[in-house]
Amino acid sequence: MAFRRILKYPDGELKKSSCSVDLGDDVTDLVRDLHDTLNVSGGVGLSAPQIGVHKRVIFISCEQFAGEMINPIIKEMNDVKRLPEGCLSFPGVSEDIERCDNIVVEYTKLSGEKITEKFTGLPAQVVQHEVDHLDGILMIDSLSRLKRSKVLKRVQKVKKGVYDMLNN
Ligand SMILES: [Zn+2]
Repeated sequence: MAFRRILKYPDGELKKSSCSVDLGDDVTDLVRDLHDTLNVSGGVGLSAPQIGVHKRVIFISCEQFAGEMINPIIKEMNDVKRLPEGCLSFPGVSEDIERCDNIVVEYTKLSGEKITEKFTGLPAQVVQHEVDHLDGILMIDSLSRLKRSKVLKRVQKVKKGVYDMLNN
């Protein structure tokens, strides 16, 4: 089991775009690390750039879908909604973000199988959030400057809280 540190906003690595990958041992290791790190963190999704690896790999873990998506591409997006959203790179933050409730995604499994799948509700929201990470797009990018500065303060406060806890 390999738990990797999750980069936190405003780490500049989160703003970089990720590259498409070919299947191989390094992707197998990466998928395992994403799976393990997500399990320990208790989130519903994690992208490779959040653990500092700029490859187009995400891992989703919710009731409706659990597994890896390699080189995911969203082919269709429908039914815009505003939904509360969180992110493991933004501890303690929840903001309403516009997402599509119905999507179609193309992706590859570790086995090499190519899949086209339709998602509705939570998994659709999570896939959009994680694919954004692969393009260096963060959930707060659509918020106003004032809201973004509030989010930054909250993340710093949570980080400081964890630091104080570890040092007491
Ligand atoms: Zn995120």
